[in-house]
Parts: sequence; structure tokens; C-alpha cells
Amino acid sequence: MTLHLYNTASRRKEEFRPIRQGEAGLYTCGPTVYDVAHIGNMRAFLTFDLLRRTLELRGYKVRHVLNLTDVDDRIIQGLSRENLSLEEYTAKYTDLFFADMDRMKILRAHENPRATKHVDAMITLIKRLEEKGLTYEANGSTYFSVSKFADYGKLSGMSLDQLQSTGRVDSDQYEKEEARDFALWKGWTEADGPVVWETALGRGRPGWHIECSAMSMQYLGETFDIHAGGVDLIFPHHENEIAQSEGATGQPFVRTWIHNEMLLVEGEKMSKSKGNFTILDDIFQKGYEGRHVRYAYLQAHYRQPFNFTWKGMEQAVAALEGLEDFRLRVREARGDKPNEALDPILKKGEKAFDEALDDDLNSARAIAALHTFVSDANRVGFSSADAPRVEAFLSRTDSVLGILGATEQAVLTKEQADLLEQREAARRRKDFDEADRLRNLLREKGLEVRDGPGGSTWRRLADGGRSGPR
Ligand code: AMP
Ligand code: ZN
Repeated sequence: MTLHLYNTASRRKEEFRPIRQGEAGLYTCGPTVYDVAHIGNMRAFLTFDLLRRTLELRGYKVRHVLNLTDVDDRIIQGLSRENLSLEEYTAKYTDLFFADMDRMKILRAHENPRATKHVDAMITLIKRLEEKGLTYEANGSTYFSVSKFADYGKLSGMSLDQLQSTGRVDSDQYEKEEARDFALWKGWTEADGPVVWETALGRGRPGWHIECSAMSMQYLGETFDIHAGGVDLIFPHHENEIAQSEGATGQPFVRTWIHNEMLLVEGEKMSKSKGNFTILDDIFQKGYEGRHVRYAYLQAHYRQPFNFTWKGMEQAVAALEGLEDFRLRVREARGDKPNEALDPILKKGEKAFDEALDDDLNSARAIAALHTFVSDANRVGFSSADAPRVEAFLSRTDSVLGILGATEQAVLTKEQADLLEQREAARRRKDFDEADRLRNLLREKGLEVRDGPGGSTWRRLADGGRSGPR
């Protein structure tokens, strides 16, 4: 099977076919840096991470762009609350955001464009829309005229007669029932205070939606492979992005739209008024780690609502202890006779794992495949000669799941595991020249290998750190 993804635009699973062979352009809607991210936002960022890591496992060279919305309505509201300049205020929440991402072991995007640094690109884009007659000006602001864009509503499945033909909406966020002309450029008002740009469109600031159209196309081209975000962004944010981008270029904007479902807390929608508003710190303060959170989240498919519970966190701890314990026993296994019964188990495990991810990133099934592998391997048993390939299997699954983190230093890179395995094979067929060559190569890669009566063992060199099986 090849990678299949559910495309919100076509409402079905499709084989992923990139524009350029072997490459994947990925734009994900990043945080609005107006507050610390909550655990619902984390679900979106973890879904993007799962997608990115799966694409990489499948051999694609990914170019991942995650923007930072550092000017919008919510930020301007927040500014007066904290009495900081726009730069100070957004820098504070940007730092907190990246700290959270690191704790969650979410891979950093290749580009993190900030809206305030791309205002020129937004003006250029709005000017293109103006030339096509898709905009109009009112009270110093520039609006997108939705009735002039025939495809308006195609992503969210709205019919044009649902649209209100009169009136405009100034706020960045609004409901489907309020759909009408939206602001591309917002003329300055007193509430904006010092947040203002002097541009060809007058004094003001960009609307939220134009930010993502301008930045995604600048970094990935006018048509790119994948755009992702939470389902709450389908309307109006992504609908408006399509209108702005396709309206200006006349080209399809995005080939595949991916949307994650929402996170609930103990069965309820998370909100400050309900008192169930949770941030990552609340979880870490109870002693959990990023890998526990990842395990808990990834047990639900990203298109299903995920119910966060403290019980679920406890279960994640227990399940990960089981996996760590298995890894330890593999490393401490004795005997140098490889167990051939492991061959089909490894093969089956890898196939089940890959097929799960290929099936629209079914991480729940991928985790189940990992557990099945562990119980199958336990059943047939393994020796120290089997350790490298079992480790390689675990490392490979963990390159996507990122759940075996606590003892990460002990995990071998794929290259190290492969070399160890090749060396084991050379030793077994008594090709000692090759075994010596590989031993030297492994030393360069930071592992010292020793042969003993009970089989080979390895030790990490550089960090003086953890030892392999002895
Ligand atoms: P924001 O910083 O509010 O713009 O949101 C950042 C990302 O988090 C967006 O992709 C949202 O769709 C997503 N998001 C917000 N709330 C939730 C939630 N409760 N569950 C899952 N994703 C969410
Ligand atoms: Zn966006």
C-alpha cells in the first residue's frame, strides 16, 4: 500500500501524490501567540508532527512550514492586558510555544514565518485581488467580495445562497451563519493603538486570513501539496484562504486538506468558563512527560474526537513501562544464536505498522501493531544476536511515534542498528575482515563493539553514557 490521506476538500481518502516526486510541501496553521497553548492546540501540533514524520518514514523530503500569527484581533486584545509592546508580548508567547513543542518532542518546522515580517507579501496579494475586481474598500478597510468568487464555500460545503449578500464582517473569527465579505486589510482604529503599518492600502493591519495565504504561497509556491489545521479552521479561515489565493492566482491552492478533530477534557469541550481549561504545564507538573502525552493522544485517530482524561494518562504510563521493559530485556538478552522464528514476526510487524499509517495516519492501529509485535517476540524469544534487528524495528517505529523518549540516548540510530546487524551477520559467517571493518565504522559512529563468549555487546562512546547488552 502507499500513503493515503483523507482530503477534506474531496471528502474521501486519496492516494498521496506529490507535485514533485519524492518531495512534500506542508503548511500547517501555527499558533496565535497571544497566550500559552492549551492541550487542545497540542492535538493539532501533534497531528502535524505525525503527518510530517509519516511522510519522512515514507521517504519524502518534507518542507514543513508552520507560521506564527503574531498580529490579529486576539493579540491586540491581549496587549492592553499585559502592557507590553507587540514585539515583547508575542516574543514571550513564541518562546513558551517552542518550549512546549520541545517538551512534546514535536519536530521543528523548517520555516516559522511570522506574520509581521510578511506584510509586504500580503499587500502584494491584496493588490492582485484588487486588480481582479474581487475587493472593495470601505471605511479605510479592504474587503473580499465573496459573491464574486464562484467557488466560495467549496471546502466547508456551504452553498452560495447561504451567504449574506450585504454587509461585512470585521472580526477574524465568525460562524458560518455570519458568512459575508471579510476584511483583508483593516484600517486603523483606536483599539489598535500602536499596532499599525503605513502601506499602499492605507494605515492599518492585515486580517488574519490573508496572513496564511501570503506566507504559504511565498514559501511553498502558488499550488502546494498539503495544508493542515484543526477542524475549527475549515470555516472561515481555510475557506477564506482558498478564496484569497485562488482568486489571485487562478490556480488551485492546495491539493490535500487535512483537519484534526477536537480534543475534549473528560468528555466536555474545553473552555475557561467551565474550569477545565488545561495547559501542558498542568500535565507536566503531575510528573508526566511528553512521551506519555504523545502516547495518550496517538491512541486516538486524528479524525476522531479525542477525550483527554487523567485515567488515560495513567494508562499511557503503564503501557510505556511495558514497552520500555521489553526494550531492556532485548538489550540484556543472552546467547548468540539468532532466532529465525523472529524473521516473519519482524516482517509482519513492520507491514502492520506501515499499513496502519498509510491508512490515513491511523496511529491507534500503528500502536496496536507495536504491541502485537512485542507479544509475538516475547512468545518466540530472542538472543543477543537478535537485539540489533529488534532495536532497529523499535527505532523505526519510534521515528514516527516518538514515545520511547525517556531513555532515548540508549536508542540506536537506524544507521547504527543496521551496521550492528551487518556486523553480526559477518561474524556469524566468520568473515572477520568485514566484521573488523564494520567495528571500525561503528566506532566512528560512536559505538564500541566487543565480542565475548555470550555474543557481541556494544557501548556508547561519545556520551560515555549508557551501555548496551553485556
Ligand atoms: P490557535 O492558536 O487558537 O489559532 O489554534 C492553533 C491550532 O489549534 C489550530 O490548528 C486549531 O484548529 C487547533 N485547536 C484549537 N482548539 C483545539 C481543540 N480543542 N482540539 C484540537 N485542536 C484545537
Ligand atoms: Zn492559518
